[in-house]
Amino acid sequence: MFLSPLAPNTATYKITVKKQNGSYKLPKTPAMEATNSERVYDPELNNTMDNFSLEVGYIAPILVVGGFCLLLFLEVRFPLRQRKQPLISRILTNLCLSGLVFAMGTYLVNPAASNLIKWTAGQTFGLLYIVPLPYSGQFIAGFLLMDLTFYYWHRANHVFPLFRRFHNIHHIDPDLDVTTSFRFHLVEIAYSTGFRALQVILIGVTPALYGFYELIFQCSTIFHHSNVRLPIRFERLLNKVFVTPRMHGIHHSRVRGEMNSNYSVVFRWWDIIHKSLRLNVPQLEIDIGVSGYQKQEDNRLWNLLCLPFRRHRKSRDLPEGVPPLRGRSISADNAGFMLE
Ligand SMILES: [Zn+2]
Ligand SMILES: [Zn+2]
Repeated sequence: MFLSPLAPNTATYKITVKKQNGSYKLPKTPAMEATNSERVYDPELNNTMDNFSLEVGYIAPILVVGGFCLLLFLEVRFPLRQRKQPLISRILTNLCLSGLVFAMGTYLVNPAASNLIKWTAGQTFGLLYIVPLPYSGQFIAGFLLMDLTFYYWHRANHVFPLFRRFHNIHHIDPDLDVTTSFRFHLVEIAYSTGFRALQVILIGVTPALYGFYELIFQCSTIFHHSNVRLPIRFERLLNKVFVTPRMHGIHHSRVRGEMNSNYSVVFRWWDIIHKSLRLNVPQLEIDIGVSGYQKQEDNRLWNLLCLPFRRHRKSRDLPEGVPPLRGRSISADNAGFMLE
């Protein structure tokens, strides 16, 4: 899909306003003019949230690396799907690609997002300023909008052929586990900077919101890519709200209708709203990967880096001539019911 790098250190930002009787009044948005309400800058709350953002920036890598190791242990001990290839042969490739992704996030995406956030923090435009909301309401609305826009971005990576070429690197992994989480082409991360910039400007993201969403995004990504077998009843319950391993496993299926489903990242609601939810596929029947990219050499590091620049293989290039289909027994009926 796309990468979202760890939270940037967007610890300080300035808003130039006049102090009146101990409080700081900010310019009004049109919606505030209409309701005659005030937007007051509270330095104390602002400092608290900045410190919170900074702390998130420090603990995020520890949480994500710790969670990664825990999930790796659990999926070896309690696997959900059977592996097609030994973990060792994939882990080096996936970690190399992930390293490039993190470098790109650190040196390109983060600085760009960080600078933009500093700038937008002093402005009064963005979706979050259309309706005057208390800070908590603005934070929740911002979190939801961040997650919804990621749904659209992920979907765009499947819909537009140029994006799909790069996103393919994530999908042709023959197995799906926690090591697939950050396996992307570095060019996909580079152009996702444009999306992040648009997201920050459009929503009007604050440093604290950005930092907090990034942390939850990273945790959710490693969790739903993992191959951990959770008790089905527990996962069904969890999946009422969050994207889970069985749900995202279906998105990595070779069957086209299944790959074109389950695009959500943190909350599963966006797939329900856009009618792209598909849960009724048994995990043992899922063939992970992409048709046309099943050879072992396709997953060598150099070939993966060059793959988007080579001729894209289509279904008609397959030995069988047609992409895999799912039998009628698992149809679109009951698509919202998670199977084992
Ligand atoms: Zn995808
Ligand atoms: Zn994925």
